[in-house]
Amino acid sequence: MLIKTLLNRMEKFKSFVFGKTWVKESFGKATVIVEILPRKNSRPECPMCGRKRPTYDTREARDFEYIPLWIYRVVFRYAPRRVDCPIDGVKVEWMPWADGKEQMTSRYKIFLARWARRLSWREVSQIFETSWGCVFRAVQWVVEYGLAHRSLEGVTQIGVDEISVFKGHRYLTMVYQLDAGARRLLWCGPERKIKTLLRFFRMFGKERSVRLKFVCSDMWGPYLKVIAKKAPNALNVLDRFHIMKKFGEALDLVRRQEVAAFKTKGQDNLLEHGRWALLKRPENLTEKQTVRLSELLTLNLKSVRAYLLREDFQRFWSFTEPAVAAWFLDTWCTRTMRSRLDPMKKVAKMLRRHKPLIMN
Ligand SMILES: [Zn+2]
Repeated sequence: MLIKTLLNRMEKFKSFVFGKTWVKESFGKATVIVEILPRKNSRPECPMCGRKRPTYDTREARDFEYIPLWIYRVVFRYAPRRVDCPIDGVKVEWMPWADGKEQMTSRYKIFLARWARRLSWREVSQIFETSWGCVFRAVQWVVEYGLAHRSLEGVTQIGVDEISVFKGHRYLTMVYQLDAGARRLLWCGPERKIKTLLRFFRMFGKERSVRLKFVCSDMWGPYLKVIAKKAPNALNVLDRFHIMKKFGEALDLVRRQEVAAFKTKGQDNLLEHGRWALLKRPENLTEKQTVRLSELLTLNLKSVRAYLLREDFQRFWSFTEPAVAAWFLDTWCTRTMRSRLDPMKKVAKMLRRHKPLIMN
């Protein structure tokens, strides 16, 4: 049958052959089942020592998910044998298409992980009708495989990032290598907890961690502490994107407080529709918004003052001389602390607290 011919071109399993293939319908979905059989007179291989050993018994048949074909789900069906190994005892045999207890074939995991580089993990799970957890396991497996087969020597710059998977809830922690010419995902782990990042450092090894030169991360306190402890020689760089995001949040808060105050006083709402004019950078404003902004700027509103403070802070990024930048940061913070704009004061306090990191 054609399917077998195609599979034989894709997969070369020395001690196994493809058996029958058939289609099974259940719940309106069709699955192509491909049977796998051990080659005649072949002996199973011990998963621990890799030696051929006598068969102890044969377990129930299991399905291993393979890359889907057209609109069909494809599974390999195989009844694993157990080996009787004099060194390792009774173990389920080694199977070249999957790891241990895993239900997905390695080929399928590589397939999912490839798509996960282009689409969000949720999109991948929706398109291929699998769970989000499967996509995560696939990516994790490919990353770990990569780690086991590639050297970690020469990794001197890393970036730690968190992504939320379900809107605002579950997190994933991703660690990237950021060395020039070698940007890649090094590690990923579920959740955003201190022990998540500690697990990365344990995998990465103490010696290599000590040799790290740069770590780029956002301002989540517990992670900063872990990084300071585990990579004592690295400069921890807070990136501009994360800092400016804090400004955006503070600005929005000042504006909303002010709108609320206007409403209670029954005054005209000067800030209505002015939200985008205030939050956007001037070069991104449409013409109409620019007019609105210049109107706003003639008034001495809190929102406007907060806006000006942020715009002024933008200059910070243009300083190349550390001493000048430090002086600017100090004056800016002092000025902001006198501004009676609480959300902006919070930003200033945050900047002061993280000054050494930002200066990096
Ligand atoms: Zn063995």
